[in-house]
Amino acid sequence: MKLTVLGNNGPYPKPGGACSGYLFETDDKKILIDCGNGVLSRLLKICSISDIDIIILTHLHSDHISDIMVMKYAIGVNKMKGKCNVTIPLYTPTDDYEMVKRLNYNNSFNIIPIEEDTIINLDDIEITFRRMKHPIKTFAVKIRKGKKTFVYSSDTSYNKSLIDFSKNADLLLCESGLLEEDREDNAPHLSAKQAGEIGKKAGVKRLILTHFWPEYNLERVKIEASQSFDSILEISQEMKTYYI
Ligand SMILES: [Zn+2]
Ligand SMILES: [Zn+2]
Repeated sequence: MKLTVLGNNGPYPKPGGACSGYLFETDDKKILIDCGNGVLSRLLKICSISDIDIIILTHLHSDHISDIMVMKYAIGVNKMKGKCNVTIPLYTPTDDYEMVKRLNYNNSFNIIPIEEDTIINLDDIEITFRRMKHPIKTFAVKIRKGKKTFVYSSDTSYNKSLIDFSKNADLLLCESGLLEEDREDNAPHLSAKQAGEIGKKAGVKRLILTHFWPEYNLERVKIEASQSFDSILEISQEMKTYYI
């Protein structure tokens, strides 16, 4: 299994950067998790849209969904021209009905709601979800195949549920939107220190941080997280592939 980071900024990109988007691949399946601004052009360097088996949107904030708004044209317009006949299953929270309606164009996507008990089985891959603490309905994602487990936090404040959900994961991709000095009590994101604490309490083998504030010095983010996490810790890099 491998994971390519297509974009790792939030809630807006640094110059030349992109917001949240991750391509998860096995030998024969491709899963796109989140599709923020800048993600589609990066994805197209790796594969074509029709190679994607499913799309998961963890929540409906713009930095996680913006490029769905143009991917729908890439599929929908080409369908009209008879050049394409795919309809990609797209899993997302569907509470915001007006927003969900805007995600689709000419049946580019088959939109399927995510709830906490949703389980997706794709051959021998199992995907499950856990509600996180964020201003809108947001889900962390767990992907299991054989003995390997990958967890992505999506966006969240500190919560025990993420620790339980990530227990003993081979890889936790965890948001680290803040430095501790900038974190207010009700902040909707984790500080690097908190991300490290979650990784440690969950006993994950490897922690990769993501969702970086565009102005941050990432060396500082890594140093802060390493104060609470003592196993393998990395700062995600755009267009880098990580093997699980
Ligand atoms: Zn975000
Ligand atoms: Zn968010």
